[in-house]
Amino acid sequence: MTVLCAWCGKLLKPGSEVVSHGICEHCSWQVERTLAKDMFRSRAIPRRRRPALAASARLPGFDEHVAV
Ligand SMILES: [Zn+2]
Repeated sequence: MTVLCAWCGKLLKPGSEVVSHGICEHCSWQVERTLAKDMFRSRAIPRRRRPALAASARLPGFDEHVAV
């Protein structure tokens, strides 16, 4: 089975005409970086909304311990 990088098309593992897709080291690094950036971005937005979310998600009996 031939394995190609699904991102850049680089040949990862030569084999038969059956083609499968993987990810090469370079693209995996790029994808990880992009994901990390996206995670940081998506985390940065809820942070601003957290006070409202925390207030609605407060558990009974915990109200007096939460400093808002
Ligand atoms: Zn690649």
